[in-house]
Amino acid sequence: MVHAPARPPAGAPPVRINLYSDTQTRPGAAMRQAMMAAEVGDEQYGDDPTVHALCDRMAALLGKEAAMFLPSGTMCNVVAILTHCRPGDEVLAHETAHILTSEGGTHAALAGVQINPLRGARGMFDAGALRAAIRNGSRYAPPQRLLEIEQTANLGGGAVWPQAQIDAVVAVAREQGWSTHMDGARLMNAVVASGIPAAEMVAGFDSVWLDFTKGLGAPLGAVLAGSAEFIGQAWRWKQRLGGSMRQAGICAAACLYALDHNINRLAEDHANARTLARGLRQIEGMAVEEPDTNLVFFNPSGAGLAAEALVAALRAQGIHLSLLGGRVRACTHLDVTAPMIEETLGAIRAVLKAA
Ligand SMILES: *Cc1c(COP(=O)(O)O)cnc(C)c1O
Repeated sequence: MVHAPARPPAGAPPVRINLYSDTQTRPGAAMRQAMMAAEVGDEQYGDDPTVHALCDRMAALLGKEAAMFLPSGTMCNVVAILTHCRPGDEVLAHETAHILTSEGGTHAALAGVQINPLRGARGMFDAGALRAAIRNGSRYAPPQRLLEIEQTANLGGGAVWPQAQIDAVVAVAREQGWSTHMDGARLMNAVVASGIPAAEMVAGFDSVWLDFTKGLGAPLGAVLAGSAEFIGQAWRWKQRLGGSMRQAGICAAACLYALDHNINRLAEDHANARTLARGLRQIEGMAVEEPDTNLVFFNPSGAGLAAEALVAALRAQGIHLSLLGGRVRACTHLDVTAPMIEETLGAIRAVLKAA
């Protein structure tokens, strides 16, 4: 059975500290002001000036010719894969990639592609693993069409792909004649953490997108960028999927606000994540993955409590964390402050002591 998202259990205390996901950031007063003041038009008709301003700015930031505004990151992945591939094609991606684990099988359902799951530590693979997956090109083999990587790697613990490793896998793709796509849901976290400019980081990719609803704090929207020809073709899929909008400038204004105000501050989220990881590591038996960015994965079972039990005990105190594959994930973002991190550490220590 498929479930609609569960509503909060009756009687659950309100969430005071939300480490569940950076998608749960709320647009603040200044962002809402920017949305109120936005000049708008008919986006579907090519007539919304604020959407054009956002797309021009994103194309420049990412060093691509053109960009399009879409309602969500998932739609960016779907539109890109539909544009790059034909039914029966193979996409090469990490086995934990969002396109493979977290998009409802959409790429099989809508694009008719198969995804070859590659292995490697922390959501990344190297050129050797990619090379080992090259098929022989016979009529028996699925045509390999697209390399996909995630920057940062979400289930890899928010890991930042080292630039040399990106360059090496892109080189294999180029040599094989494959297209390249970057799921850049948290691209700016990687840019801030590494200091490498976005355009340089994504130079080897035919398509790349950025989500505005993660740490950047906008209520909705993502921007997909690529060559003018790619974006031109992608418009057909945007239209077919119902992703063409109307007065979307209201939302694009929030994204422009985020580009101006919410990028450099991602460094604070990374510092908070490191503080949390350091505090957790001081608890005996706690298994903690060192965060590159804003995601902290840990497993408390060695410290005396199963992940599920810890998450439930904290939620009862208004501290919200997520459970992912038997691990706990804490996500820092613009609604999480340094004192909240200290309070969370204190609450975790108290829960473990009581257990
Ligand atoms: C969140 C996320 C997506 C999907 O973005 P939505 O805007 O939620 O549709 C895709 N890929 C990665 C890596 C993500 O973290």
